[in-house]
Amino acid sequence: MTATTPQFRSPTPSEQLSFSAPQTELTVDVAIVGGGIVGLTLAAALSASGMQVAVIEAQTAAAAASRQRAYALSLTSGDIFKGLGLWPQIGPHICHFDKVQLSDGDYGRVVQFLPTDLGTEAVYYGAEHGVLMAALQGAIAAAPTVHYLCSATLGETREQGNWVVAAVTTPEAVVTVRSHLMVAADGKGSLLRQRAGIGNVGWRYRQSCVTTVLEPEHSHQNTAYERFWPSGPFAILPLPGQRCQVVWTAPHAEAEAILALPEAEFMAELERRYGHHMGQLKRLTAPAMFPVQLMQCDRYVLPRLALVGDAAHSCHPVGGQGLNMGIRDAAALAEVLTAAYQRGENLGSVTVLRRYERWRRLENWVILSFTDGLTRIFSNRVLPLVALRRGGLWVLSSLAPLRRLALRLMTGRLGRVPQLGRLGQQMPD
Ligand SMILES: Cc1cc2nc3c(=O)[nH]c(=O)nc-3n(C[C@H](O)[C@H](O)[C@H](O)COP(=O)(O)OP(=O)(O)OC[C@H]3O[C@@H](n4cnc5c(N)ncnc54)[C@H](O)[C@@H]3O)c2cc1C
Repeated sequence: MTATTPQFRSPTPSEQLSFSAPQTELTVDVAIVGGGIVGLTLAAALSASGMQVAVIEAQTAAAAASRQRAYALSLTSGDIFKGLGLWPQIGPHICHFDKVQLSDGDYGRVVQFLPTDLGTEAVYYGAEHGVLMAALQGAIAAAPTVHYLCSATLGETREQGNWVVAAVTTPEAVVTVRSHLMVAADGKGSLLRQRAGIGNVGWRYRQSCVTTVLEPEHSHQNTAYERFWPSGPFAILPLPGQRCQVVWTAPHAEAEAILALPEAEFMAELERRYGHHMGQLKRLTAPAMFPVQLMQCDRYVLPRLALVGDAAHSCHPVGGQGLNMGIRDAAALAEVLTAAYQRGENLGSVTVLRRYERWRRLENWVILSFTDGLTRIFSNRVLPLVALRRGGLWVLSSLAPLRRLALRLMTGRLGRVPQLGRLGQQMPD
């Protein structure tokens, strides 16, 4: 089948959207539900292929970009953004982690990950949601093949031959969106996943995570600290402008109590867990609390449906992996779809979509198991496990090859790196 085969061709301009009418039709190759970082990365990655793409986002563009969260962004995610040509917009506004330091409570042995371990310019990056979203929204606004439907409500979806037809209500029109494939990038509560009845395995941890942004008295020196306490991991990540993001995990009741503390007591508790490396710490944002869970879908694809990002999986925030896995999902799915499109294959067929599932589901299992193992081994006081993890830290700090292996896993450089990531690896910071 060739790219011009009528059944799976791209829509012609006359089939595409006219927004003037309140009732209108939009025919595309791929409709992405959810315009968060993962959905927009997929749209940006598909935009160069010639495919017509719709992004259906529930919030306004400004609201979708306004989430107050900063991420530990892996080298491979950075490489994918470089491969997309977005580094000039992102690079100047993020922070390089020049050192990542792991430790176990008060145990003196620390493990340090350095850029020299991998021969890179940073170990990780610290990036804010708004910075990544602004770059991605800019990219898709400049792409004539991407239609961005914001403040959109996804109504009924039904299959019609090789198409999936969705009723989408926006403030301007009721749009009938026809596509060969719908992608669920709509986050962990994914409506599309629920409607498709895709099951999952997983569990809620008996922990929640408290976040806040701090301004330290002394420079953070681009160092990220992950300190494991029996109550849960505690991370301080450097951000641009000499600020730091705290990700503080604790059992639910304790997290709730922490959240309710007056500021001075909150800061005193925080310093007990962190120390005084950066002098006096000032709180810049009110703390927020998030539940923590592990979830992996039984399948990532069905005919005419693929799941990416948190719609497909979610993990404990330890090690900063969730978004990074989703960005690799998006780059991998774009690569699979682009190749299929060039060969004139049916983008919604399970034969095509399983190439993506086989690639990403297993790799995500490895990361989910790794973060789960870390949490279980470190979040307890059982003596044999304390001895085991301290021995593990000792081995990790002493054996450079093992440290490099762990770092390659955490930075997304183990496993099959998407082509966009390999392209970005060759580009400078
Ligand atoms: C406290 C905390 C810290 C974290 N830190 C890190 C980190 O350091 N590094 C890391 O890699 N990960 C981190 N994560 C995980 C990361 O936040 C998620 O993995 C990531 O945001 C998932 O992105 P997504 O685009 O798949 O989903 P989301 O960010 O949830 O985006 C989903 C989008 O879909 C839209 N949407 C939802 N439903 C619909 C619908 N029905 N119709 C249309 N649109 C819809 C939403 O409005 C949203 O824009 C952290 C998570 C938490 C809670």
